[in-house]
This record gives sequence, C-alpha cells and structure tokens, in this order.
Amino acid sequence: MHKNPKERKAKRSVTREALLFMLKLAWQKKPSLFVLFILSIFVGFGYEIISVIMPKFVIDEAAAVIGGGGAEHIKTAALYICVFVGLNLFFSILSSIIRTRSNVTKEWFDEYIDVQIGDHAMAMDFENTENPEALDTLQKAKEGMDWYSGGVCGILDAFMFIIQQIVLLCGVSVVILLTCPLLLPVQIISLIIISIFNAKSNEIRKESFLKLAKSNRVFGYVLYELADFRLGKDIRLYESADMMCGKAEHFSDMQSAEWISVDGKTCKNSWVMDIVNSVRDSISYFYIGFLALTKAITIGDFSMCIGGSSKFYWSLHRIITGVQDISKRCDYAHKYIEFMEYPAAMVKGEKNVKSGEHVIEFVNVGFRYPRSENYVLKNINIKIASGEHLSIVGLNGAGKTTFIKLLCRLYDVTEGEILIDGVNIKEYDQEEYRRLFAVVFQDFQLFAFSMRENIALCCEADDDRINEVLKQSGLYGDVQKLEHGLDTTLFKSFDEKGTELSGGQEQKTAISRALYKNAPIVILDEPTAALDPVAEYDIYRQFNTLVGGKTAIYISHRLSSCKFCDKIAVFAEDTIKEYGTHDELADIRGGIYSEMFAAQAQYYVS
Ligand code: ADP
Repeated sequence: MHKNPKERKAKRSVTREALLFMLKLAWQKKPSLFVLFILSIFVGFGYEIISVIMPKFVIDEAAAVIGGGGAEHIKTAALYICVFVGLNLFFSILSSIIRTRSNVTKEWFDEYIDVQIGDHAMAMDFENTENPEALDTLQKAKEGMDWYSGGVCGILDAFMFIIQQIVLLCGVSVVILLTCPLLLPVQIISLIIISIFNAKSNEIRKESFLKLAKSNRVFGYVLYELADFRLGKDIRLYESADMMCGKAEHFSDMQSAEWISVDGKTCKNSWVMDIVNSVRDSISYFYIGFLALTKAITIGDFSMCIGGSSKFYWSLHRIITGVQDISKRCDYAHKYIEFMEYPAAMVKGEKNVKSGEHVIEFVNVGFRYPRSENYVLKNINIKIASGEHLSIVGLNGAGKTTFIKLLCRLYDVTEGEILIDGVNIKEYDQEEYRRLFAVVFQDFQLFAFSMRENIALCCEADDDRINEVLKQSGLYGDVQKLEHGLDTTLFKSFDEKGTELSGGQEQKTAISRALYKNAPIVILDEPTAALDPVAEYDIYRQFNTLVGGKTAIYISHRLSSCKFCDKIAVFAEDTIKEYGTHDELADIRGGIYSEMFAAQAQYYVS
C-alpha cells in the first residue's frame, strides 16, 4: 500500500490532469458556474465567520447587563442579535439560490458526460467492443464520472470547497491568534494524525473501486438482460430466470463481501480518529477554561475561542480531507479521460474513396480474432469485379461472416491485404470507406424507434424512397396495414401501441434499410433465414433487380440462391476451397459444392 516516489508523482499528475480537465470543460461549457463558485465562497465564509464572531459581542453585552451595566447594553445586544439573524438569513437565502442553480448545471453535465461516453463507445473500433480491457475501461469511466466522483460538478464543488475553507481558516486563525494562540498547535497536530488515517481509508476504498469494476459490469449486464422484454421468450421457455438471478446474486454477494471487507479495514482507522478527536477536545476545553477562569479573556472571548477553535479544526480538517477527497474523485474521474483517449485498435487512413465502379481484392489474407490463437481464415485470394454478384457458401463456422467483417473493416487482417480499386483499405478514411457498404448481418438490430427511422437511420428520411424499398423487399403491404404506417414504433419498450414484427418482417425491414442506404456494395448475410418459402423465392427472384448493377455479396445456406449469382466461393477448412460459376462447380465430381447442391436439391425436387 505504501507508494514509492514515482507512484506518488504519477498520482499527483493524475489528480492535476483530471482537475484541470474538469476546470477547462466547465469553463468552456458553463462559464457561469464560476460566478456561482465565487458567490458560494463568499457565502460560506460569511456564514461561518459571523457564527464565530457575533456571539462574542452579544454575550459581552449580556454579561455587561448582568454585571449591572446600563440600558444601552440591552439596546446594543438587541441590535447585534438583529444583525446576526439578518446576516444568517441573507446567507441562507443566497446559499439556497446557489444550490438550486448549481443542481441544474450538475444535471446538465451528467447528461453531457453520458452522451460523450455513449458517442465515444460507438466511435471506438469494433474490435474494442470484444476487448475485456476496453469494456472495463468503459465501465470505470461511467462509474468514475458518476457517484464515485460526483462528475464534473462534484469535483469542482470539492475544489471550490477547499478554497472556501482556506479563506475561512485564515479568518479564524486571526481570531484565535488574538485570543488563545496555544490552541493552534494542538489543533494542527491532531489534524495531521487524523489525516494520515483518513488517507489510509481512502486508499482502501479506491482499491476496492478498481477491483469491483468487472463484477459491477457483469452484474449490470445480467440485470439489463433480465429487464429486456425482447428476451422474455427465451428466458421463460428455457427457464433461465433462476440461473440469471443466481448469477446476479453471485455478483451482488461478491460486491457485498468486498464492501464488508472495506468496512472492516477502514473502521480501525475511524476508531483512531475518534480517540484523537476526544483528546484534542479535552485539551482545548481545559486551556480555554483556564484562560477564562484566570480572567485572561472575557466570557464573550471564551465563547468565541470555543467556536473559533472548532471552526479552525474543522476548516483545516476539511482542507486536508478535501485534498484527499479531490484526489480520490480525480482518480475516479481520470478513468473517463483514459476512456476518451483509449487507443484505437486500427490504423486510420485519410484517402478518399473514388466514386464510380469498385474492384475488391483479397490478397493472401489470413485472420485470427484478437486474443485468439487459431486462424479462422488463411490464404484467401479472391477478386470481385464491379457489379459482380458473388455467392458465398460453406458450413457453419467456415468463416463466411468473418470474411464480410474483414471486408467492412470491422477487424483488420492479420496477414495479407484487402484492396479496393488497388488501394489497401487501411489507407481509406474509415467513415467514407464504410459508406461503400450496405450490409444485412444475420444478427442485425432493429431499434425501438419508428419504422421510418429504422429504415432511414442516419440518412435523411424520404417517404417516397422508403415506400419504394419497402415494395422491393415485399414489406410495403404489411406497413400499410399498421395503424400509423411509417410512424409506427417498433416494439413496445416505449410505446404501448408499438408493433412486434415477425422474424420475416424484421428481416425484410433490415433488407429495406440496406436498400435505402443505396451503397455501391450490397452484402446480405443469410437474408432469407427467417422468411417463408414464398417470400424467400420472391427475394431470390428479385435479387438482381433489388441490387441492380451494384456489386453484391450473398451468404446463404440455400444453394438454389447461388444460381442467381455470377460466381460462387465455397469456404471450407479456413479458406476458399472452390470458386467458379454454378455450372462449373456443379460439374466437379466429388466437389464440396456439387455434393452440397445434390444433397439440397433432393429436398427441393421432392
Ligand atoms: P460462418 O459465418 O461461416 O458461420 P464465422 O465467420 O461466423 O462463420 O465464424 C468463423 C469462426 O470464427 C468460428 O469458429 C467462430 O467461432 C469464430 N469466431 C467468430 N466470431 C468470433 C469472435 N468475435 N471472436 C473469436 N472467434 C470468433
């Protein structure tokens, strides 16, 4: 637990970096926050200092009255009380205005940070979405900017609070120095001891935060899955609720055990701090009492000293714990900076993609998934001419989808290169490159938005064009029947009138989305798996019309679909085993394709 100088320096720079980051962000986004901070320093100081000084004047006047002083002492005492109450009221009102205003800003920053994290997670390389380290960093960023650090406002509040306490400390020190100077060393020594033990407790809590990031993520995942209505069928039919609740309980138990262990470790430190507090208070009271009894100070001074010494102790305590607290908060919040700067998994190119026709070429491509030893694809060599329709077939796990993911540059190849128009795809600007493809993956996602939004997604929604693609995919009639047509929300997550589409309708929606994107290369990965035979036949028949003169890559288990394609690539044993037209491959005796085709044809003939 003891840090070496190098670690201490690194920690200081983390704190400084996070604090400067938050100050800069606040200054750029909400400069008015600083006006609130200055006001709150003023209010905090005023509030505390009058509670130390004013009672002295009231008590001295009261003592003068008791000692037989004139009526003018009563008047002065009453005046002091009015001023005291008036100032208190003024500072209370001001402080509640400041609190309300800063709460609004806090909400704003919380949402802003959530959006930033979400945006960045989406912009991260796809590869990182499967990288446990990247996912843990994301989790830590979310939690670190949430209740652990209090977010931007939590950190800045803590920082301004320290400044407020420093100002107060200076004021109270003057008061104590003038009345009971020996109190200062007593307070300072007790505080040093308390701070050391407080720092130890903070360190224990921080270590536990880092340890819990993974279990928090798994716990959150299980709860999220349990609450997802769309998984209701599987969870019920496979009776997996108990298993999932069991998992949630397991991680919840892990968290509880960790918190209990943290409490156990920190409570010994709390005991030491309590003892030091008691010893300090006893010494202070004896000392001030002695001064009062020996008439070295007045009764008013006595009260001021008691109040002042308590304020001195607490403001110094708050400064020291505040520094520790802000360093702890900054440590948590720094996870956000780390996430936002998480290194890209892929090289980013800058070349523009030329318009017009595109030739795709895989040259000696080999690939294994990140953190995996085994090659999924080896020696892939294929050229796809512009406008060509290629069918990819092969058994499950042969690497067909992986081939598509590599082409879309969701992953970078391990060996060889992929060229588009003779240029390595790594050299292209990523966004521009991805615009080349309209892909329907097997595990495509529809969202709980309107039908229109689901089809247009990032493109501008043009109802005429949407209806056109709906007709092409055979979904137009179904959408017409929906009460709100294109405005109908999918799923019932946010709209009780939302519609639940059948598997086939969902697939047609995904195909419509791909067609709407109007990209030059269309890729359909098993697009007909959930379609009924008639719809499947329609899609096959219309396939050439649907994609027009565009390049199309089509993965299917139904080999009859291959007849509609110019070329067929058969994936087996991690590579392309056969390549040619339907007629060429069907003629190879004992060939993979001819055997697969013969096997399937039996069913179609019968
Ligand atoms: P196909 O589309 O032909 O069914 P895939 O391309 O989906 O096959 O998968 C090829 C192989 O790669 C399989 O062995 C599969 O388990 C593995 N694989 C797929 N995705 C991943 C991944 N994200 N990480 C590690 N291995 C994967």
